[in-house]
Amino acid sequence: MKCPNCEKAELAKTRENYHYQECGLSTVTLVGIVVRKCPGCSNVMPRIPNIEGLHDAIAHALINKPERLLAPEIVFLRKYLGWSGADFARNMHCDRAQISKWEHGKVEMSKPYELLLREMVASGKKIEDYHRHEAARKKVFKTRSLMLQLQEKNWKEAE
Ligand SMILES: [Zn+2]
Repeated sequence: MKCPNCEKAELAKTRENYHYQECGLSTVTLVGIVVRKCPGCSNVMPRIPNIEGLHDAIAHALINKPERLLAPEIVFLRKYLGWSGADFARNMHCDRAQISKWEHGKVEMSKPYELLLREMVASGKKIEDYHRHEAARKKVFKTRSLMLQLQEKNWKEAE
């Protein structure tokens, strides 16, 4: 395979530990993946299978770490959830300036917010879950009856 960058040299295939900086974190190494390198220019092309599964693994490692989340990790988790800065602000019930301060490491994310973020990732909240947050923001408090039905040993909302 010819290098798509310089279109001159033939790419050389190796297997090595790859520093996966593309994810925005400086701490992730992919062990023994196939990497194609151009001997003519500086082009390096890693072959990363199942990127979605990889990002799941990174996200879960982050939310399970006992130390506080660092700014680039907050950015990673926000993107993992598929959220823009505005989405993040809306879902965390705070303003965009606050988000920006966390993501640039200017202000430490307070513990309740950090727990909320970890919880959102843990429960696999994605952008389509908006309506639940929308409901939480509504000013009107209304009693909603809950109908639960046992379905194969699991309690589920009755249809
Ligand atoms: Zn090249």
